[in-house]
Amino acid sequence: MTSREDCLARDGADSLAPLRERFTLNADEIYLDGNSLGPVSRSVASRVKEVIENQWARGLVRSWGPWMDRPLSVGERIAPLIGARPGEVLVADTLTILLAKLIGAALAQRPHRHVVITDALNFHSDLYIVEAMAKLAGRPISVKAIDRNTLADELDDDVALVMLTHVDFRSGEMLDLAGVTAQVHEAGALMLWDFAHSTGAVPLDVEGALVDFAAGCGYKYLNGGPGSPAFLYVRSAWQEFLNNPLPGWLGHARPFDFEPTFDAAPGIRKFMTSSPSIIALAALDGALDVFDDVSMNDVRRKSLALTDLFLDLVDTRLPGVFEVVTPREHARRGSQVALAHPEAYGIVQALIARGVVGDFRAPDVARFGFTPLYLRFVDVYDAVEVLVDVLASGAHQDPKFAVRNPVT
Ligand SMILES: *Cc1c(COP(=O)(O)O)cnc(C)c1O
Repeated sequence: MTSREDCLARDGADSLAPLRERFTLNADEIYLDGNSLGPVSRSVASRVKEVIENQWARGLVRSWGPWMDRPLSVGERIAPLIGARPGEVLVADTLTILLAKLIGAALAQRPHRHVVITDALNFHSDLYIVEAMAKLAGRPISVKAIDRNTLADELDDDVALVMLTHVDFRSGEMLDLAGVTAQVHEAGALMLWDFAHSTGAVPLDVEGALVDFAAGCGYKYLNGGPGSPAFLYVRSAWQEFLNNPLPGWLGHARPFDFEPTFDAAPGIRKFMTSSPSIIALAALDGALDVFDDVSMNDVRRKSLALTDLFLDLVDTRLPGVFEVVTPREHARRGSQVALAHPEAYGIVQALIARGVVGDFRAPDVARFGFTPLYLRFVDVYDAVEVLVDVLASGAHQDPKFAVRNPVT
């Protein structure tokens, strides 16, 4: 079994270890929830300060000149993380809104088809927005929320669009990006991926996988801050054909001509609707600095080593206590581990009270995110020790942990 000393030795040899210094973390805590809200890195504050104290305070309205391109320039910094080419990524709005835009745009490209397929276990916001956009499509569209393992049986020539989340928010299962996309294209349908739990966590190659459309989150593994803007990806080949179903003045080719009819800007800019949130964009821009100095392959290697270690320690220290929901196969695992247990809510609360921050996902999952940029192997070891202690002492059965918080 791996000892604490082994973990310290692995940290000593870890090429990503110095990156931890770039984050502000609570010294007495082990943060296993970066998949829900990433921590703040040091370059965020300086970037936000520069926008407020210089560009906004002094430049005032004149700063809108350079600010206009921020959604594209920050998008260029995300592009390498997903394998996109220049001009294919735009930062705007929030993830649910961007999914709405892409669903609407995609449905118009398959006017003779009437079905959208998604995953019954998808994140609830994705399910709500796909239902709503189907109703607004201008023709009858039925949404099929399926068991994703039956996708092959569901694909036929009436399917317009398939929308799946690449790494399942609850179980951490990762789908085969290129394989599923090819299967969907084979049926003549379009593919929209949700990268909320993938971007910044696993290497992605939208170009190689021939992905049509994707969107992802700024505040999870990208550490852009609470409510950070999201990003969308549209393959270049599609851009001239698509319409933004929620057009606004900043997606117009000439916003300052104040024309009464919409004439879309060329390229991905047409997917902008409103004035970009410049302070939030500055925070995300600062958060992306840390990714300039790492390769996603190294991040992935360490992520798998961390989740392997966690699974190994849980297996040996707590045999049979949890059902491990996350696939053990590397190719099917994202950067988080989900453990099912009837008392998962109390377990997570008791862990948080002892400084190990994970989260609970209904109905019975304790979820732990492993972010290689700032987590150490010894943190994984210590977190499992605390978990062992919680279960042995029955701390999780304390009635005070039975009361559900509004945010879990
Ligand atoms: C976090 C998350 C969202 C929500 O994103 P918002 O920016 O709050 O709209 C949507 N889908 C998935 C899969 C998520 O994990």
